Formats: sequence, structure tokens, C-alpha cells
Amino acid sequence: MLLSKLFIPITKDLPAEAKIKSHQLMLRTGMIRQSSAGIYSWLPLGFKVMKKIEKIVREEQNNIGAQEMLMPTIQSSDIWKESGRYDDYGEEMLRISDRQNREMLYGPTNEEQITEIFRSSVKSYKLLPQIFYHIQWKFRDELRPRFGVMRCREFYMKDAYSFDLNENEAVLSYNKMFYAYLKTFKRLGLRSIPMKAETGPIGGDLSHEFIILADTGESKIYTDKRIFNISTDKYSNDSNSLKKMRDDFSKFYAVTDDKFNQEDFNKKVNKGDQLETKGIEVGHIFYFGDKYSKPMNCTVDSKDGKKTFVKMGSYGVGVSRLVAAIIEAKYVNDKMKWPKSVAPFDVVIIPSINKKDMSNLEKALKVYNDLRNKGIDVLLDDIEESITNKFKKHDLLGIPYQIIIGSKITQDKFEFKESDKEAEITDINKIIKILKK
Ligand code: ATP
Ligand code: MG
Repeated sequence: MLLSKLFIPITKDLPAEAKIKSHQLMLRTGMIRQSSAGIYSWLPLGFKVMKKIEKIVREEQNNIGAQEMLMPTIQSSDIWKESGRYDDYGEEMLRISDRQNREMLYGPTNEEQITEIFRSSVKSYKLLPQIFYHIQWKFRDELRPRFGVMRCREFYMKDAYSFDLNENEAVLSYNKMFYAYLKTFKRLGLRSIPMKAETGPIGGDLSHEFIILADTGESKIYTDKRIFNISTDKYSNDSNSLKKMRDDFSKFYAVTDDKFNQEDFNKKVNKGDQLETKGIEVGHIFYFGDKYSKPMNCTVDSKDGKKTFVKMGSYGVGVSRLVAAIIEAKYVNDKMKWPKSVAPFDVVIIPSINKKDMSNLEKALKVYNDLRNKGIDVLLDDIEESITNKFKKHDLLGIPYQIIIGSKITQDKFEFKESDKEAEITDINKIIKILKK
């Protein structure tokens, strides 16, 4: 992509409500544009990052055998009346009526809808277990939308739902998802900590929030620091290893504030290992048994022919919130620092250009084409402005690698730089090798 053609409408005057860095940086680099309170358009740069995050989330769901589908955003109120949540959900639910005056709603979550789909087609235990997921827009009429896409009203979420015959098997589905979440966040360059959490309006009795540490986070957390030492690489997706993973994590105190108890904390964690801090919730998983299957009469015939309510869990990842959360976790001063896995571009070429001498731009175009032919996603800054301004701009954008084409280059060697590291003078083959890694 040529920078001169890329649509990056930068917001120069930051609105007063842009209080946290990720919100400011997303506006300053034209990633999003507010369309009304808590509702945003995703502009090309922001959308590109979100799609890369979505891809990783999807791959890790597929890796544990979850099946992708797509449910609509607009739901009928009937199923919510059956589950009893139509009244309980309160003002966060956006209620709509159609031309026939039917009560509809913009889905804040999909437990009812998936239960309805499942109960109308699955009748036997033989089809269990099942895990379904979709990645779809949600709407929650938050009382105080804030911090940009971090807490907005319309947001993009991966939500998955598991169906099992009994609690033992349901816990295995839960553990698989726990594992998929650890892997997903790791690939996004984040260190996430699973914390025991309350279940809230989703209901149920087993729940973890996946939190990444950040001063601007809204979740207060209390944890034993030693939980950071658990390496998630040693686990695999089989039931024994998954059980070991859950046991290992549960050895350390790690809770959000609604589960916090000072006495317990002091008893279980040495003073030196205690950490009280803030974090951002990027995922949340629940096991809730028959909370929905019972009122919605969702049963399967078990082996002995008896009707059994299916045991369910639900599992969310805030895909759009993650864009802001990654910025929040990684930025240094005023610079974004995209992990390679989700950076809007793999590399940016920055030629020093002036009207009288366009030779650097010509050289840059050649490198640009060479890299593109190798399947590398390149941005070329073909704009005529001072090299100092260019550096400032690219520091802000946070693309992980830069190729600088100025006075230091020779016939076939270029200045190549990983953000924040010293530049090296190197040839195109080595550059390709590093970028392809
Ligand atoms: P929170 O405690 O932050 O309000 P929640 O517990 O209501 O979130 P869940 O129902 O667990 O949210 O939703 C799953 C995920 O969706 C959350 O972990 C979060 O990443 C994301 N999410 C929830 N609400 C919002 C929102 N208003 N804006 C952006 N993302 C959100
Ligand atoms: Mg939650």
C-alpha cells in the first residue's frame, strides 16, 4: 500500500472524553471515528488490525474443535421471555419493535438463540459434545460508554457455546476453551491471567475472566505474582493435560474484586507475592449447567432413554476491545507498538524524498515490489515531507519494522530497523528472511 493512497483521516483535536492513551492514539492515527455515543466506524487501519485479531481468535477456536456459524444481530423477544431474561437484562438491552409491532432486540449476547437452535435439532446424547461459536456485533446500551472502543455500546465479540451431557464433560469443554484463550492471547502478544470471577447476569457457578494488566483497566484484581511464572506452552489439548493446567492455575490466588476477600488473600499469599492492581478484561468464560436449558426445555435422550437437560457454558472474547487493549498494554510514551501478529503492516519503507532527486523513491518502489512479491504486507511512505516528520509519524503508527532509504544506503544494502532497536545496514534477502519469520 502506498501511504499517499491510504485513508488515514487523523483527528487533530482530541475530544475531551478521550482520556486514555489507546483512545487518543486510535483517533490520532485515524483507526476509528465515533458516529454517536459509544458507536464507532472502523476505518481502514483500525479495521485491518481488528481483522488480524479476529483471524487468530478464529484459528484457536477451530483448533479445539469449535464450529463457526453466524447468528443474526436482531433477535425476537420470545426466546428471552422463555429464559426469563427479557425483564432481568434491564436497560442495557436495546429493544426495538418492527412494523407489525413485534418486540425485537439487538442481541447483547446469544445464549437463548443458540439454545433455541440446538433444542430444535439435537435430540440424542450421541451428538454431544458440541461447541459452536460466532463472531458478531453486539449491542449493550451501557450507561456510561467510555474509553473509545474499550467500553462502547456496539462492539464485536466472539461468543462460543458448549453443550454436554453431564457436568464432567462440560468441564472438559470449559477447560478446552480456557486453553484456547491462553493460546489466543499469547499469540496476540499479551500476557493474560485467568481470574476467578462472579458470573453476573449470565448466571452459573464456574467462571474466569481473562485479564491483561494495565493501569487504565477498569477491573480491580488481586493476585499471587507467582501465577505469572506458569508457562502455558507445556499444556496440550488432551483431557489430562487440560486438567493439570486448571489445577496449576488454581494453586495461585487470582480474583477480581467481586470475589475478593482480604483475609483469604493474606492467608493464601505471602506479603511479597501479593499484587493488587488493575487490568482489562479481554475474555470471560462461564459454566452454568442447565440455567438456560431448563427454562427453555432443551433436552437430549441419554443412553438409558431418559430426557436430560443439556449442560451449557458460554465463552466471550472482546475482539474490538482487544484492539484498544493491545495498544494500552504495549504503548511507550506516545508510540504504539504493534506485536507482529496483528500489526497493520509488516514493514514500512521510508525513503527520504525531495523534488529535485526522486532516486530514493525509485529505489524504494523496487524494494516495495520485491517484498510484495514475497507476500509481505508493506507500506511505502511516498509522501514528500521532511524525514523528521516521517519518523515522527511512523513512531506513532508503531509498525514493527522500518526500511529507511536515505544517504546511508548503497547499491543493494538498506537501513533496516526493528522499532526501538539500532538500525543495521543489510541486504534485501536478509530483510525478507527476518520479515518472513
Ligand atoms: P465488562 O465486565 O467489561 O462490562 P462483561 O462482563 O459485561 O464485560 P461479557 O458478557 O463477559 O462482558 O462479554 C465478553 C467480552 O466482551 C468481555 O470480556 C469484553 O472483552 C467484551 N465486552 C463486553 N462489554 C463490552 C463493551 N461494552 N465494549 C467493548 N467490549 C465489551
Ligand atoms: Mg465479563
